[in-house]
Amino acid sequence: MRHEQLAELLALFALGIPEVEGLDYVRAHLAKGCASCELELREMDDILRELALTPEPLEAPEQVRSRLLARIPGVAGKREAGVR
Ligand SMILES: [Zn+2]
Repeated sequence: MRHEQLAELLALFALGIPEVEGLDYVRAHLAKGCASCELELREMDDILRELALTPEPLEAPEQVRSRLLARIPGVAGKREAGVR
């Protein structure tokens, strides 16, 4: 699996979406101690926490998801048209 794909999975991992294929791989990868993925995950966690703390109504999960994905180099943009 390419590292960019992994970063994408990290976003889903951060969102706590359990039924996505490949999360086991992400977990294993993190367990191996990949510093950049760990940092990425931490930043995503921060974003999610910020969102949770905002007094405004929480954004739709889909928006949160694309915002997270937009932070990932190489994923931003090309994801918009596809998948959904
Ligand atoms: Zn990594």
